[in-house]
Amino acid sequence: MSAKEKFIDRYLNPDKLNLFLGGLKNLDKLSIIGYSEENRPIYGIKIGDGSIKVLIWSQMHGNETTTTKALCRLLELLENPTHRGLISKLTLNIIPQLNPDGAAQYTRLNSNSIDLNRDAVDLSQSESKALSNMFNGFKPDFCFNLHGQRSLYSAGHMGLPATVSLLAPSGGPEGSISSSRSKSMKVIAAVNQALQIDIPGQIGRYDDLFNINCVGDKFSNLGTSTILFEAGHYPNDYNRNITTNYVLKALIDSIKIISSGDYNNYTTDQYFNIPENKNDYCDLLIKGVSIVDQGKEYKNQELVINFKEELESSKINFVPYMIDYADFWTGLSHQSIQIELTEIKNKIVFDKQKPFLQAQSEINKIIK
Ligand SMILES: [Zn+2]
Repeated sequence: MSAKEKFIDRYLNPDKLNLFLGGLKNLDKLSIIGYSEENRPIYGIKIGDGSIKVLIWSQMHGNETTTTKALCRLLELLENPTHRGLISKLTLNIIPQLNPDGAAQYTRLNSNSIDLNRDAVDLSQSESKALSNMFNGFKPDFCFNLHGQRSLYSAGHMGLPATVSLLAPSGGPEGSISSSRSKSMKVIAAVNQALQIDIPGQIGRYDDLFNINCVGDKFSNLGTSTILFEAGHYPNDYNRNITTNYVLKALIDSIKIISSGDYNNYTTDQYFNIPENKNDYCDLLIKGVSIVDQGKEYKNQELVINFKEELESSKINFVPYMIDYADFWTGLSHQSIQIELTEIKNKIVFDKQKPFLQAQSEINKIIK
């Protein structure tokens, strides 16, 4: 079974991933680069022997699996000798799942409730040390920092979701552009141009507030060209299998442009022309709802709902919760339902402190 067929859920259990990695027979070197706080192995794979060194890591946030799924497909592709030419000038070091404890529990944080992407200076966690040791020993020319973002992001205000977002982390005070950052920006400009053909208007530029505790900022600050990839939403694709296709394409395009050096034909202006990520979306809008808020009733309202991802028996449930209501919601929604007043017998009680308990059964009645 191929990686594309094998990994179709949002949840990606470390054992299942490690079985897959262990089965990749033709790749040069699979090794354990460290252990998590709960003593799970953290795997690294070294491929190729070219002079340009690229360090790639995914799932430092355990619930961000899409880029790991894309990496599995990249690894499978590179196993085939006919595709190895793709990396003839490169040496890749790939860490598919940096936070296996968080991955097992489907949490952003590691098992000590630490955000590994705020631990780049302290290096208080074994996962952070594993990545830092790899960085120091390998001395990469480029870093790919792979993440996933919520469905709420749009690419600018153009009415389309940010299916892929990219960032060249600033690595210094706001607005500073070092020569290494300039390289990352040009690679991103090239990748954006290629992706626009497939998903026009659905590529965003992530915000570049500098925080030295974030790993991308730290490595960028040390002078390594770093690229942040964020896997985002594609319409009706909550398991993110369509998004995985585009992340894979972004990774392959990045590898190609770095190998050829053709990123020098692009400009930092082209990077800045990519629309910034905005927060325009909710997951679901239910129109025609009667709301009771602090004892007062509001008729014919639009109820704004997002989904929270919850792990249950190795599957992710998308649990609706209320975030707001309005006569007319000015944001965008991935799905909207107009209901008749007779469809709900009980009025929906809006309480920001209890967004799930009071709404879920009523909302489920409407959705199903
Ligand atoms: Zn993340």
